[in-house]
Amino acid sequence: MSSVYSRYHRKIRSGTTNCCVTRFIPPYILVSFGIILSAQLMFQVGHAEPLRSETGTPAVFRSHHAMGTIFELLLFGEAGSIEVNDLELAADDAFDLLDRLEAQLSNWIDGSPVSVMNRKAWPGPVEADPVVLEALKLSRAYWSMTGGAFDVTVGPLLDLWGFYRDKQGIPTEAQVAEALGRVGFDKVEIHPEAGTVRFLNPEMRVDFGGIGKGIALDRMAALLKARGVRAGKLVGGTSSILVFGFPPKQKNWKVNIFSPYNRSSGETLATVFLRDESLSTSTASERYVEWKGRKYGHIFDPRTGYPAETDLVSVTVVAPDAAWSDALSTAFFVMGSKKVWRFCEEHPGLRCVLVSDRDRTGVPVVEYVNITPEKDTEHE
Ligand code: ADP
Ligand code: MG
Repeated sequence: MSSVYSRYHRKIRSGTTNCCVTRFIPPYILVSFGIILSAQLMFQVGHAEPLRSETGTPAVFRSHHAMGTIFELLLFGEAGSIEVNDLELAADDAFDLLDRLEAQLSNWIDGSPVSVMNRKAWPGPVEADPVVLEALKLSRAYWSMTGGAFDVTVGPLLDLWGFYRDKQGIPTEAQVAEALGRVGFDKVEIHPEAGTVRFLNPEMRVDFGGIGKGIALDRMAALLKARGVRAGKLVGGTSSILVFGFPPKQKNWKVNIFSPYNRSSGETLATVFLRDESLSTSTASERYVEWKGRKYGHIFDPRTGYPAETDLVSVTVVAPDAAWSDALSTAFFVMGSKKVWRFCEEHPGLRCVLVSDRDRTGVPVVEYVNITPEKDTEHE
């Protein structure tokens, strides 16, 4: 392929090291930080009122490079019961946990538990790391729930289409068919009692790229809550947010969804209000390979072996936790809007913002599923 646009690739090629930025900052500066740092996101989390109204609330903002992207934490404590220093230490530990999860779940790291499993599960069985086993079980649940649209065994397709290493040209139908033979969660056997995994075909490859950030956000939130953090906004790169508690003097967290066509313009397509839940966005425009002027996105239809191409340009899902929202946003992008509507009728606890371009005119059409925008603004 002529070029690959991927945060993972950029990280690996440039050798960027993990970094932690920002120490404690007074709440009034958090306001401007929120705006500056969120400018790169698919969405922006704001507050109906500036944070400076609560100067007595202990608060910290931190960011950290992991999983090929930037994670952000905005944490609030209860005045009188927790110090800023405690929030700092909790944030440090949450980022340490994130680094450990990346080391366990990344198939880009040669000796990681998931890479070892990918090499040895056929003919297997191979003993799997408990975190990998848990991630596999969750992934199997979403695979089954989405009729196979979410499938972490898409690794051979990502490899074939040049997302792991540069390739020239798009693959032939025969190559796609061959790779498809090595894709499918029905070819993965999990033995929970023995803690082992077995692949039924050689050369399979599990890739947790569609759920790893969600799993990390859920685990980080659990750690932060256990450490007495009263409210938090956890952002995982351009695609996932988890919130718990409320920002000072607010009843919810406000998230603006940007246009996938013109993100830098900051054009807001929709606004969603979150309470103790998670939001994820999937789009093909974030990461793709380009061949002869045509872009091929990083989300694959595991049934066809081709990059998913439906009426959807981007899909945002709000769900009770981040593993859900992360996995479902990827699956929904594969399913297209009609199937998403049907799925959400059966799961009324989910809310979505669908951006489609049915006529390929470049004019985005926005649909809200299980959200009444007017009703949501009443929470402000
Ligand atoms: P982001 O990386 O921006 O969070 P997604 O959550 O939508 O985006 O995940 C996309 C990633 O998921 C791809 O880069 C790939 O690693 C993996 N993937 C691609 N297609 C699928 C699929 N059908 N099911 C599960 N994972 C997928
Ligand atoms: Mg995802």
